[in-house]
Amino acid sequence: MASIDSESLEELGKLRMLAEKMTDTRRTKIVATIGPASLDPKVMRDMVEAGMDVARINLSHGTLDQHLETLKKLRDVSDLIGKPLGVMADLPGPKVRLGQFAEPLDIALGEEILLQPGVKGETSKKGLFSVGYETLLTDIQVDDRLAVGDGSIILQVIDHTGDALKVKVLFGGTVQGRPGLHIPSDRLSLTTPTPQDLKYLDAMVEADIDIVALSFVRSAHDVRRVGLEPAPRGPLVVAKIETKAAIENLDAITAESGAIMVARGDLGTECSLADLPHLQKEIIARCVALGRPVITATQMLESMINAPAPTRAEASDVANAVFDGTSAIMLSAETAIGHDPAHVVRTMAEIASKADQKFNYAGWAKNLKRDQLGEPQRADTAVTDVMTMATWQAAREIGANAICCISASGFTVRAIARFRPDAPILAFSPQARSVRQLTMSWGAIPVQIDRIESTDATIEKVLLLAKEQGHVRTGDIVAVLGGSSATIGVTDTLRMVRCP
Ligand code: PEP
Repeated sequence: MASIDSESLEELGKLRMLAEKMTDTRRTKIVATIGPASLDPKVMRDMVEAGMDVARINLSHGTLDQHLETLKKLRDVSDLIGKPLGVMADLPGPKVRLGQFAEPLDIALGEEILLQPGVKGETSKKGLFSVGYETLLTDIQVDDRLAVGDGSIILQVIDHTGDALKVKVLFGGTVQGRPGLHIPSDRLSLTTPTPQDLKYLDAMVEADIDIVALSFVRSAHDVRRVGLEPAPRGPLVVAKIETKAAIENLDAITAESGAIMVARGDLGTECSLADLPHLQKEIIARCVALGRPVITATQMLESMINAPAPTRAEASDVANAVFDGTSAIMLSAETAIGHDPAHVVRTMAEIASKADQKFNYAGWAKNLKRDQLGEPQRADTAVTDVMTMATWQAAREIGANAICCISASGFTVRAIARFRPDAPILAFSPQARSVRQLTMSWGAIPVQIDRIESTDATIEKVLLLAKEQGHVRTGDIVAVLGGSSATIGVTDTLRMVRCP
């Protein structure tokens, strides 16, 4: 058999990558959580190749040093493959946990248990659970309901016994490790970000993190307290919507944040599960209209922690989140502790890709009328609003093969993405961090350029790059959207060009 030399192999590799680019139609991004099952760089690499766009480091578990090491490994993998990978640090927020259980413990319906405020390190045992929440006895009242772990175990407070709360088990199950205890957010006296969050945040910002997620946000003020410079000088801040108060203050929180997460785990405990699908749709529609990426999270392919295939309901859930207009879909335990993280990512990518092909692009934009786009607060936002709308319309009418968007901060890319154009969005930025942040934006194919020059020179450069990378061909019609060099930061130029 004839042997293949290394040059031919390299050529074959390039051809394969070009073919993949031409056929991969996925627009919805995938965020995957890194955990014990995915700490090996080989697994991380497989996950990127399977479709992971953003890696999430969950700071609720492990030490800061471990998280910094994970970040470094992810950066190395991304460099090795030559593909931008966004990294999100998810801050724990005021998450209350039960003291450690020495071994898994079954708790039965009707059982009575005492809950006692305890310090870190205290353990829980049958009949007496330690709760890491100092003001437990003053904040919680008789008849309140508390949820354990993923929310399937429900406890109802039946008495105050002076130094403990007596609860009755309404729904039983098995507890193990240090499970979370969900306290209704209107009872919780802790605010986000916590002093611990701010400590983590400092270290992560120092390490050049791209995206940070803020847990248990209740108001726009919570997001302001993070005190970061706006992206891309600072990381993109994702407000996790998981409290009733956040639903009430959604527009103000969205305006203050870089992106939003529908954190269905805790939100499903705060609200009735029957309301959850409707809240998901409403949050997605409102955030996309304001030009913010929105992530749908939790239990998307939960059964794949152990199983090789998802349930029918999970496959439908992923596809329906795409039809709702979500920008990204998230994997948690599936990739953090699951048996085959890359396989789960591949499965999710396949389902999302098919759903993207069936997405009602024309219908979406029609519903996104001018008056739904949010009130422009500044004159330059108003210019971006009309320019992105004009670009979407022109690209659609002429059947453009691609939209090239030149954007230093990524703002214009996020603004055009809200129209969900059917043409691919090529997102060019000279800022490495913007490029990595755009991995989370719906439909954006982020490409780094060295700098933004005069309009003509930049357009020439991006068309060449787009062609070289296999995104467009000679003769294709391309809409190029960007800013004129005289007014950096303002999207004021649209050209319809034929690719040379
Ligand atoms: C959630 O509650 O759905 C969520 C994503 O947050 P966490 O995993 O931090 O509980």
